[in-house]
Amino acid sequence: MKHSQLLSVLLPVNINYPFTYSCTEPLEVGTIVKVSFRNREVYGVVWSHDDLEKNFDQDRIKAIITNKIGDDSIVLPEDLINFLNWVSGYYMMPLGLVLKAAFKKQFFEKRIKKKIYYNYNPTSHSKITKKQEMVVELFREHMALDKNKIMSLSGLSSNVVMRMIKNNTLKVTESYEPPEDKIYLETKIDFTPEQNHTMEEVLASLKEQKVTLIDGITGSGKTELYLEAARRVLKQDKQVLIMLPEITLTQQFIKIFRSRFKNQIGEWHSGMSEGNRKQVWFDTLNKKNRLIVGARSSLFLPFADLGLIVVDEEHDQSYKQDEGIIYNARDMAVLRAKQLKASCILSSATPSVETFENVISKKFNRAILNKRFYGTKLPAISCIDMRDAEKGMNSFLPKEIIEDIQKTKEKNEQSLLFLNRRGYSPLSLCGNCGVRVDCPDCDAWLVLHKNTSRYKCHYCGHTQKSDLKCKNCHSSDNIIQTGLGIEKIDEELGRLFPKMSKIIFSSDYLPSAASLSSALRRIEENRVDLIIGTQLISKGHNFPNLTYVGIMDADFGLELTDIRASERTFQILNQVSGRAGRVKRDSSVKIMTHMPDHQLLQSLINNQREEFYNTELKMRYTSRMPPFARLVAIIISSKNRKLLQDYSQKLGKINNFPKDIELYGPIEAPISRLRKHHRQRFLIRGSKNCNIQLYVKRWLDSYKVPPQIRITIDVDPQYFL
Ligand SMILES: [Zn+2]
Ligand SMILES: [Zn+2]
Repeated sequence: MKHSQLLSVLLPVNINYPFTYSCTEPLEVGTIVKVSFRNREVYGVVWSHDDLEKNFDQDRIKAIITNKIGDDSIVLPEDLINFLNWVSGYYMMPLGLVLKAAFKKQFFEKRIKKKIYYNYNPTSHSKITKKQEMVVELFREHMALDKNKIMSLSGLSSNVVMRMIKNNTLKVTESYEPPEDKIYLETKIDFTPEQNHTMEEVLASLKEQKVTLIDGITGSGKTELYLEAARRVLKQDKQVLIMLPEITLTQQFIKIFRSRFKNQIGEWHSGMSEGNRKQVWFDTLNKKNRLIVGARSSLFLPFADLGLIVVDEEHDQSYKQDEGIIYNARDMAVLRAKQLKASCILSSATPSVETFENVISKKFNRAILNKRFYGTKLPAISCIDMRDAEKGMNSFLPKEIIEDIQKTKEKNEQSLLFLNRRGYSPLSLCGNCGVRVDCPDCDAWLVLHKNTSRYKCHYCGHTQKSDLKCKNCHSSDNIIQTGLGIEKIDEELGRLFPKMSKIIFSSDYLPSAASLSSALRRIEENRVDLIIGTQLISKGHNFPNLTYVGIMDADFGLELTDIRASERTFQILNQVSGRAGRVKRDSSVKIMTHMPDHQLLQSLINNQREEFYNTELKMRYTSRMPPFARLVAIIISSKNRKLLQDYSQKLGKINNFPKDIELYGPIEAPISRLRKHHRQRFLIRGSKNCNIQLYVKRWLDSYKVPPQIRITIDVDPQYFL
């Protein structure tokens, strides 16, 4: 019998340390192994050689089941292991939980099906339709193609291709092995002189090995710049990762990438099938994928040789993951690039305040684009003062807006009304006794949604029928809808402009990638006169006919106490405004507000974005807030309210932090109940360079957590609800 080796194996479970197993041969760190754990079979990773459990019982150590996946062994790259260690340490997440982001069990269960390649069968007697001709055309250039390639190159649906296979127009080429694909890199991009100049700055900065911010106004062609940088890195035979915030909205982008680089592109996001993900995962590990376009989780892919990470729309809030592993993918992209000695580009028209500060303190370089690509001007922005605005005839909308929409339609152009409030009305209350309709599981109002005729909780997703009696006085037919949601705007516009075609652009109406892209196409092809949108619209890209934007209720973020409220408001107003006039010459934006003199709106109107950032940074500096301090939020929740209060009070009394770290709380969270759990919050603030994690851990460890209590740690929190 061979002498067995002891291994420490990290498992993708919510535990912070590896377990000890044995194996008859030594295995490399990073090797995927199958082991038995709590009577289940799980896949884990050989973590390190010197990190064995202490005081283990030699006789009880189990042998691993196998270290082979199919016939091969799979080894995660060392840099991925370092990265996972770092994410776990920085975000105070159990190591095993972080490992969950790196692979799925299903990736190793079945072998990847061998691809079947097809060729055109000239002896087939089937009639060839016009669409099918596009496929036949492909085989003038290609010896053989698999079904997915045929679909992506021709743009045709699976049905069309399947029909051709069935009727023998395409035949299987038995012994075909694809030649080593070459990535297509020779496309000449026609830069404007300004882009050319900025491109040189980007390249010089990358040479310096610094994080580079491409800071360009909406519509200035930032994408072209980072694609050119990507092309150069690909040419050096390295991999490139481009991260996008809303991947379902950016299918148009991916089309551009594909037309530019032709092949070897992998997509990575939650909307993909398991089989597809598995293919992309292995292709990334084996370097068969050279360019990966992905959502935030793509950072955890096992890159073989990554040379550049691009974070597009780096300010976007969706880079922050708030459930499961709580982390900020923008920050982790910067870190991952640094660990790999790879280049890193951030791109935005409205950079985050943190990034802006990194530019000012010269940690990052900045390359600026000031002109719009098509030579159009930025839209003219003005305010409508709602304190004395004249209302339209029998309407709650200002007369000015109604007239503007009419005029825009007369030019055969599109208008967008923006309101960041889903549903019909945000608050429903009983006309008899005044009690509001709220969620049974959360401390939140229910929002009426007319498209489904149901009330919906925007925090937990609970829904209930809208024909409801008051829970207090039981009177029916007396529920009053107050406040504006986008459905109400849609109803009003339908009444005012019955002949105009409209679309509601919100997640409730466009829940799938397919519905989104069809909506975007309708807008792009000018088949829609009026768009009523939530912030989802601010992330769309191609609106060539949109020349008018009305922003309803711009005051939503001006009075909030959240430290990031004004930053977010500035970003969203800028992004929404920036949808207008990308191609057509004259465009305008009108902002409805009760505070037209507010400094934030003034910077927006006068296009003084540097002033906005400087004021914001000054404010953060004097109030000692990020990026000049560090924050960790702790959310403590439990179904048992009394237990929660007792525990939080006791924890609050143990204040064992050093002088430069302050503990605030406990306080009841603004949403004091969520999904039936009561919630209390602490906030911990430390100076910029302190090791805040170390002290937070020591503090939390000082008092045992009862089993019915859950603690969530949010390092660098973005929201405080
Ligand atoms: Zn009532
Ligand atoms: Zn709820």
